[in-house]
Amino acid sequence: MNRQEQDKPAAVPHMARTDIQRKWQSQTKTVGLTLLLALLVGLLAGCSGSGLAQEGNTEGKLSITATTGMVADAAREIGGERVEVTTLMGPGVDPHLFKASQGDIRKLDRAAIIFYGGLHLEGNMTRILEKMAAQKPVIAVTDKMPREQLIGTGEGESGEYDPHVWFDVNLWKHAAEQVRDTLIQEDPDHAGQYREQAERYLEELEKLHQYVQQRMNDIPEEDRVLVTAHDAFGYFGRAYGVEVVGLQGISTAAEFGARDVSTLRDYLVEREIKAVFVESSLPARSMQAIIAGAAQRGHEVVIGGELFSDAMGEPGTEEGTYIGMVKHNADTIAEALQ
Ligand SMILES: [Zn+2]
Repeated sequence: MNRQEQDKPAAVPHMARTDIQRKWQSQTKTVGLTLLLALLVGLLAGCSGSGLAQEGNTEGKLSITATTGMVADAAREIGGERVEVTTLMGPGVDPHLFKASQGDIRKLDRAAIIFYGGLHLEGNMTRILEKMAAQKPVIAVTDKMPREQLIGTGEGESGEYDPHVWFDVNLWKHAAEQVRDTLIQEDPDHAGQYREQAERYLEELEKLHQYVQQRMNDIPEEDRVLVTAHDAFGYFGRAYGVEVVGLQGISTAAEFGARDVSTLRDYLVEREIKAVFVESSLPARSMQAIIAGAAQRGHEVVIGGELFSDAMGEPGTEEGTYIGMVKHNADTIAEALQ
């Protein structure tokens, strides 16, 4: 996943029909005895090399493993009942530092398709994803994003682009389209379903985009400054007209120093910034140090709330979905700064 590979159009390795069917079969979660028997028969047929019966295919779901919650959510929305999605990184997990455990590798092994963020978001997973790509489609949802719309980081080859693309909802539509196109390619029998579900989801994303824009417009222009722990909101700032300042770099893998703390403290004092934000996937102590520093200089700053940056909220809550997480962030920012 060097620069060159990322710039290539989505390469979806062709997969033999029977391979997919076999994978689906092995993924089938059905517990009914009849179905179990049908499955066994199907597997036997597969072993004898005669190909699998069509019925097995319709009972099984397409097994998808996604790295982050945001990517998994897109797969769930567009795949619907046709897919079974497993997420590697739960709430509060930092993708920049994430290392795949043995259990995670099993989840990747079991999948028929793997989706990941790309642009070096999952910096420690490059090797394992490359290995998996020899066996199955391993797709970066950022593959189709026009490179001219990405924010460069100027950090050389290992950090060519800012990977936090999901905070520009318009840009994230490309990720949804990438998921749709991959599902259609791998499961053409259900292309119509994927197209329909993607269309509905893209409409929801358009509504979300407009909602975020509205919320940011509620904030007086001079107060549209978002101070966070790491630079996760560059795309958000660019898309919705908010100045974004992060204490840490694009990746949390880089340490921040005392100089970063004092620079940011002085900035808060000079710009008279009222609120800063903590992130769900990062410890809050760095921002607390800055607030204390500003207080010593006689400027009061509060924590405006917790934003979801690189991970979503708990499953089953509103923030446990991509749309809910973005809404939560927009509301939290608007309420604290307005
Ligand atoms: Zn990040």
